[in-house]
Amino acid sequence: MNDIDMVMQNAREAFDSFKLLSSSDRSSFLQAIAAQLEAAREVLVQTAHEETNLPLPRLNGELSRTTNQLALFARLIEEGSWVEAAIDTADKNRTPPKPDTRKMLLPVGPVVVFGASNFPFAFSTAGGDTASALAAGSSVVIKGHSAHAKTSQQVFEAMQKAITKAGVHPYTIQHVLGSGSTVGKALVQHPYTTGVGFTGSFSGGRALWELANQREQPIPVFAEMSSINPVVLLQHTLQENTTSLAKTYAASISLGMGQFCTNPGLLLAVKSDALDQFLTLLGREIEQIVPQKMLHGGIQASYIKGLNEALSQKGIEKIAQSARQPAEGEAFPTVARVNAAVFMQNPHFREEVFGPYSLAVVCADKAELMAVLQSLKGQLTTTIMATDADIAANADIIELQTTLAGRIILNDVPTGVEVCASMVHGGPFPSTTDGRFTSVGTTAIKRWVRPVCFQGFRDSMLPDALKNSNPLHIWRIVNNEYTKNAI
Ligand code: NAP
Repeated sequence: MNDIDMVMQNAREAFDSFKLLSSSDRSSFLQAIAAQLEAAREVLVQTAHEETNLPLPRLNGELSRTTNQLALFARLIEEGSWVEAAIDTADKNRTPPKPDTRKMLLPVGPVVVFGASNFPFAFSTAGGDTASALAAGSSVVIKGHSAHAKTSQQVFEAMQKAITKAGVHPYTIQHVLGSGSTVGKALVQHPYTTGVGFTGSFSGGRALWELANQREQPIPVFAEMSSINPVVLLQHTLQENTTSLAKTYAASISLGMGQFCTNPGLLLAVKSDALDQFLTLLGREIEQIVPQKMLHGGIQASYIKGLNEALSQKGIEKIAQSARQPAEGEAFPTVARVNAAVFMQNPHFREEVFGPYSLAVVCADKAELMAVLQSLKGQLTTTIMATDADIAANADIIELQTTLAGRIILNDVPTGVEVCASMVHGGPFPSTTDGRFTSVGTTAIKRWVRPVCFQGFRDSMLPDALKNSNPLHIWRIVNNEYTKNAI
């Protein structure tokens, strides 16, 4: 038996034990993890700072987001209605007689999580994928990201303390480090793996998705991959809010040196004097932004390569770059412009350049703007900047945008993803491999469960969520009506 076999054997044993835990005990376990992360805060943040170049305040905020996320899932499963219990009682007098059927969501089995490079806490070892899978009742094997291996190991050690404290199976969470093409591949291919969570590059996510589909028993890979997050700027708002729009968007494009999957990589507008003025002001703001180190050398090299490739395309015009020359490892924020006709002829312009870069697409008229939107691939977000008059005149643009992305934003920036029940951080391919799900917010739990129907079971044999007395006091659909009442 090799190492990965051993890990997955352990994960399966842990699953058989962990799935039997009450929601209340699972909820306490999630809270124990949050408490251990808080206890280790100073060390974790310092290590992550050294490994990722991310500033301390950002990392402190990200760790809080991570512990809040665990607490949110703890509350979700403590309340319990998320299992979507549905009960249809028997009717012996019907012809043919109607059986008693009861359905709820149950965990799929051991899940493999690939930590993301750009969020060492919130989308990594103890991040949203892990928290949602544990909340569902799955055991988790984490493939730590090599770019912050030490942080990942320290987070795992904090989680191990929570395992001991809560008394759950010792292999409920396991951690492996190593190359994606060996360790990662073997984890995805292992027959005991039942689902995969991933955040990273399109090539990485796609490769893992293909591996999962080539298995004798294919499994789902929920990969969050690539998005350029188009922003539509409408006429009146460009005229009325030129300066504030330029400041807001320069800040969003360069936030965290653009290392966010929700970075506004594409700005769309119809040509006008106001648009020219906006782009000039945006350029001036970008010139003022001080270059900072990116997460690691590989990401910086890939930013420079992507940027140079973009800027070398025919018809593109650089508007501005950060005025200060970047030092080694730094990214320099850049904005460029291109005419819509040129944009649509060259698929290169639709590729993500991961970093502080945004391309303005200047359209001849509204019809051309809509044609550009229609030519885009699936996105995590799309934004509309508009006054009331703009909104009244452009309902068709907004309608088109809702078909394009998982989240549509009015008069704000796409960067910043709230962790809550109503969030959708997902979208049509290639922003993710499955646009029906989200990787942020409480409904992220739905990735790790499947519905199971119990037909003709005696009350004592049913899970608590489906028993007549409703001992968990959860919302259920009983004979087509939402209720908390006992049967
Ligand atoms: P990545 O290269 O996709 O790696 C993410 C994880 O997947 C790593 O653990 C990696 O293993 C593994 N992996 C990658 N390719 C694999 C393959 N073919 N088979 C098996 N495992 C594989 O992403 P990254 O390191 O975070 O950043 C690289 C680029 O991804 C960035 O420059 C950027 O373009 C993009 N990115 C996008 C987002 C987004 O949210 N859209 C976020 C982060 C990064 P290793 O440890 O061997 O690398």
